[in-house]
Amino acid sequence: MSDDLRERIAADMPRVIEELERLVRIPSMGYPGYDPAIVRESAEATRDVLREAGVGDARLLELDGGHPAVFGELPGPQEAPTVLLYAHHDVQPEGPLDQWDTAPFEPVRKDGRLYGRGAADDKSGIVEHAAAIRTLLADGDLPVTVKVLVEGEEECTTEHLPQLVEGNADLLRADVAVIADGGNYRTGVPTLNTSIRGVTDLVVQVRVLPRAQHSGSYGGPVPDAITALARIIASLHDDEGNVAIEGLKRSEWQGAHIPEDEFREESGLLDQVELIGSGTIADRVFAGPAVAVLGVDAPAIAGSSNQIVPVARARVSLRVAPDDDPRVARQALIGHLRGHAPWGVEVSIDESAGFEAGHGHLVDTDTPTSRTALAALSEAYGRDAIELGSGGSIPLVPMLTRTFPGIEVLIWGAMDERSLIHSVNESVDLGEVERIALAEALFLRRLGGSPQA
Ligand SMILES: [Zn+2]
Repeated sequence: MSDDLRERIAADMPRVIEELERLVRIPSMGYPGYDPAIVRESAEATRDVLREAGVGDARLLELDGGHPAVFGELPGPQEAPTVLLYAHHDVQPEGPLDQWDTAPFEPVRKDGRLYGRGAADDKSGIVEHAAAIRTLLADGDLPVTVKVLVEGEEECTTEHLPQLVEGNADLLRADVAVIADGGNYRTGVPTLNTSIRGVTDLVVQVRVLPRAQHSGSYGGPVPDAITALARIIASLHDDEGNVAIEGLKRSEWQGAHIPEDEFREESGLLDQVELIGSGTIADRVFAGPAVAVLGVDAPAIAGSSNQIVPVARARVSLRVAPDDDPRVARQALIGHLRGHAPWGVEVSIDESAGFEAGHGHLVDTDTPTSRTALAALSEAYGRDAIELGSGGSIPLVPMLTRTFPGIEVLIWGAMDERSLIHSVNESVDLGEVERIALAEALFLRRLGGSPQA
């Protein structure tokens, strides 16, 4: 019964691709050092795409000291639910230009894919929403109330996220949020992204001396700070490679599983290096914690001399299971670091580093809304949808669930295993854009209880 939508979206694709190309041409990098006027230009182009799709009141949502988001609303029947469609229009920096096969901001079509920075992450989400709305509006009114939010600094900062969400709570309030910033496990395999992990970072410092001392005169009895720090870091995993911090949640993943060889291959892990930890890959990546050292401050080799290093620092990043509390996990990490300091070295935690605790999220896949989403995905793709987690984090999601208790959050998108988001040669499969836009239109129609669906 979805043939009408399928045909309309197929017929709309030339326009969808043109819109996506238009957006990709704007290098909307929001990081410091890039021209903020270009991110504004991207917001304006996004607004125009939404207006042309029928969101007549699409407009910029200004943030004090931040890059503008875009918002628009189309009312549906009074008793129908309100759905917030989310994407972001800012992109990652282009990275090393000489490693791109084509210019990052000059969209190029090749073998059914569109190449360019942001083609997948996340400008595909913008045109997905526009296509779904335009297609449904061809029937007249929308089956549900639709609000569209396109953020302008998802990649570069969470600083203004409270201002954006809590500060516009009346505007953004919804029953369901569709986050089009995810993707499919494989091209053509419809995937509902059903979990994200939480994350917390901190900087740990080890000090052994007020100042450096000669390593010949004192070395032997006096330990150096790097060695002591290395012992603390080494204690974060057990011999099998499981996270050894006590008190963290981990569980068995309930959704689809990832074959170990595929995971190995995609990660690029060197052949002789073992995967660490126990349980399935999905257990480890979607339902358990991970701890990694992201950076170390210690003397560089160049310029180092025969001195006992007095102080060393490491930035430690802890990802936690979707249902774990990152604030509790952070305290567990701090307790572990202090508790595993050898030889009475002084350990301090730099709380000022500004890495806040971000909550994870676990989608309840047994609600009518989730089941409708899975059914819409299956129908659009012509095969059963799978449920897969994401090891990463989307800070907006916990912000939404905190601001709007009871809101249901669905995460999907047009990205696939070849999209290379955040890397060079980013691309999106244009067939995936078409299929996910169809899934979204089907979902909205069914959520509104339309007998047509
Ligand atoms: Zn993204």
